[in-house]
Amino acid sequence: MSLDNQAVTLLQELIRFNTVNLPGNEGPAQAHIAAILEGAGFVVEQHGAEVDRPNLVATLGDPTSGPVLGLLSHVDTVLADPADWTHDPWSGDLHDGFVWGRGAIDMKSQTAAEVAAAAELASGGWRPERGALKVIVVADEERGGNLGARWLVREQHELARCDFLLNEGGGEVIPYGGERLYGVCCGEKGVFRFSVTTRGTAGHASMPTLSDNALLKAGPLLERFAESQPDPQLIPEAKALLEALGADPSDPRAALESVVATDPRMAAIVSPLLGVTMAPTRIRASEQINVIPARAVIEVDCRVPPGLGEQEALAAANQVLGAGEHEIEFLEKVPGNSSAPEGELWDAIGEWLPSEDPAGKAIPVMLPGYTDSVAFREAYPEITAYGFFPQTNMDIYETSPLVHGADERIDARDVGVAARCYSAVARRLLG
Ligand SMILES: [Zn+2]
Repeated sequence: MSLDNQAVTLLQELIRFNTVNLPGNEGPAQAHIAAILEGAGFVVEQHGAEVDRPNLVATLGDPTSGPVLGLLSHVDTVLADPADWTHDPWSGDLHDGFVWGRGAIDMKSQTAAEVAAAAELASGGWRPERGALKVIVVADEERGGNLGARWLVREQHELARCDFLLNEGGGEVIPYGGERLYGVCCGEKGVFRFSVTTRGTAGHASMPTLSDNALLKAGPLLERFAESQPDPQLIPEAKALLEALGADPSDPRAALESVVATDPRMAAIVSPLLGVTMAPTRIRASEQINVIPARAVIEVDCRVPPGLGEQEALAAANQVLGAGEHEIEFLEKVPGNSSAPEGELWDAIGEWLPSEDPAGKAIPVMLPGYTDSVAFREAYPEITAYGFFPQTNMDIYETSPLVHGADERIDARDVGVAARCYSAVARRLLG
């Protein structure tokens, strides 16, 4: 069977294991993967915090003899309501060239491509000339990875160690102007959520002039969030992204305008990557309708580029809110993280890409949200970890709405594209 067919068949099989998290129940899917990789010549270990929810690490070669390339994925999914779907979410149907089902994009397709590529290499007799190839399939990503990636890098630190890692987070073709761009996800933004508190004095709501209503003081602050966002702050990855788009990073606002002019959909992807973003999402004041509040609290979801932290978030909040009597307090401080868009893994992707898309060009992107790459970058500070699941047929505007949505499906040809990519990158990095 060709690599394409092996990867597509495995995807269908994986979709048929219901791994909705909670409860996850990843064990049977992991056993299926373990059998394939063991049969091909990998040494497979499974470890987990809970017996029904193992994580899998399969190793080919000697990790002490050279670089280790890890192919990472998670095998749990979010839930699905069959009533909303055209095909049963656990059917794995192949219909009109698409594989249908929960996890078809996020991310059993990548699991299938990684496992099929690794198994084909190994069963064909290939072995790393130096270093090792690891296939790492974890549980529990969709609920934060405490039993999955985070647990694995802590409890099985050496087993899970990698120098290079490919995970989810990018790779669909992004049509832009006349170009075909492929985002390689180099980082994830940090989360620095904060509250803004205004104070007054409480009183009876029937006599409003006698008290000092804290909620009315919060109103103008909310308006300021509507009127402005903090100034752009370009980290190197954001500069590289703008340059790749042919925009001048020395003037980020003008650069963003030029992206908007070319394709506003692309601007929606690019703009959160250019600096700190803030979105007020909650407000609370009086507990009772007839009591004027002495205190009102606005809660703000704030995302900060990797490399920047609390100080930059606070400066950005002060810039937007201006001087005043309000108080700012951080509720959550999780720094972002990134890997530089350069070096051997970057080059390997760039060399492979023309073999599937002669007009394709790799560009660095970042996610405003979270993937398991965070756990690996924290555990192994030297690692180069990218999100890359190349899809030459389905573009990012087609795939994005399907992630966690109804009728999740993938163009079957793209599963083969990705499998060939992982095979080529492994051979390039490990000899
Ligand atoms: Zn995912």
